[in-house]
Amino acid sequence: MNVTFTADELAFRDEVRTFFREELPEDMRQKQSQAVELSREDMIRFQKCLHAKGWSGVNWPVEYGGTGWSTIQKYIYATEMAAANLPEPIPFGIGMVGPIIYTFGSEEQKQRFLPDILESNVWWCQGYSEPGAGSDLASLKTRANLDGGHYVVNGSKTWTTLAQHADWIFCLVRTSSDVARRQEGISFLLIDMQTPGVTVKPIITIEGDHEVNEVHFENVRVPRENLVGEEGKGWTYGKVLLQHERTGTAGVARSKYRLKQLRRQAARSVRGGEPLAADRNFMRKIAATEVELKALEFTELRTLAAVSSGKAPGPESSILKFKGTELQQAVAALYLEAAGYYALPYVPDQYVLDFPEQDRVGEGAETKTSLRYFNFRKTSIYGGSNEIQKNIIAKHVLGL
Ligand SMILES: Cc1cc2nc3c(=O)[nH]c(=O)nc-3n(C[C@H](O)[C@H](O)[C@H](O)COP(=O)(O)OP(=O)(O)OC[C@H]3O[C@@H](n4cnc5c(N)ncnc54)[C@H](O)[C@@H]3O)c2cc1C
Repeated sequence: MNVTFTADELAFRDEVRTFFREELPEDMRQKQSQAVELSREDMIRFQKCLHAKGWSGVNWPVEYGGTGWSTIQKYIYATEMAAANLPEPIPFGIGMVGPIIYTFGSEEQKQRFLPDILESNVWWCQGYSEPGAGSDLASLKTRANLDGGHYVVNGSKTWTTLAQHADWIFCLVRTSSDVARRQEGISFLLIDMQTPGVTVKPIITIEGDHEVNEVHFENVRVPRENLVGEEGKGWTYGKVLLQHERTGTAGVARSKYRLKQLRRQAARSVRGGEPLAADRNFMRKIAATEVELKALEFTELRTLAAVSSGKAPGPESSILKFKGTELQQAVAALYLEAAGYYALPYVPDQYVLDFPEQDRVGEGAETKTSLRYFNFRKTSIYGGSNEIQKNIIAKHVLGL
């Protein structure tokens, strides 16, 4: 595959690079470089900056306000965003429910929801998993019973990422149990989080963060017009969405950026009087991970090419999800090894922000290494666990 950039593509790369360097809020850049968590307001501000430039709907068709970029432009954009160490836009609106609404939604739904998603006026979260339905999602039990012009929703969702910030949730719900296959009778419903009967309870993760939640529905009345597509066809829509999600979780550009930074850190960090970069065994591990990333990068480019020719990402997206998240975890483990004892202390955000770099324990963002390592354990679970991805690859890619 030829990935030499044309003059136009290089000009585009320079435009993206300049925009990221010069036109985004400096305080956010500073927080990012020091691994300080961004607030809801920070994320919205960032996404609104992208929208003001016309760059929020990277994968969306032009007719819905998307960029209409080529595969290579999208690749350049993602790579430059990672290289500038910018946060990843929250995926639930732009990357997930947006494409479902413009593909399967009614004209009214497109007009009502898509502009707010593009402009980051509304924060979405994803309500698929339930206490008894994760890998075996078709066993979900949240019920939506039609009562006049409303669905009445009862049940619970779990692991709902950033639901504490969300204005709306898109849910897979059971509208019928009288079906031949469990995948039938599931519908795709959009629910306003402010509706009476919706409650959110935090789940605190291994690194002490509040990132995921339980969401409970008790007699929640949802207008019938919030059903996307046909009743009972939610499984089909949800599967398309999961493939989009899996393509997005590979994180190749970000892993490449982090490995580049790690090489720099290895040159600076001293172990037993020698720079870490002189440890051939450690540097060999970095090189081996870089080689695997390069191979995955080409697989991602092939998938992007298919998507840009109008196809939804297929089961190949499972390869990206599985391998990409394994590599993210491998990079996090290498950082842990490089940071050594400095990775151990817990360092609150305020401390990182208030103290000059030279006065901190360890070397800046390094002090968050163990938190990031623990946080990244999630990557092989969310979006469908990696064991499930291997099953999909075996069945639908290898035909076993
Ligand atoms: C940090 C985080 C954020 C998340 N965010 C969201 C979100 O925003 N919205 C949402 O809907 N969900 C979210 N999830 C849920 C996620 O999709 C599920 O955790 C995942 O699908 C696994 O389901 P489960 O946790 O019920 O585990 P289970 O399905 O109970 O699986 C337990 C273990 O058994 C293995 N296993 C299960 N079935 C098989 C099989 N057939 N073959 C081989 N191995 C198998 C699994 O790989 C896993 O290791 C999130 C999860 C995490 C950890």
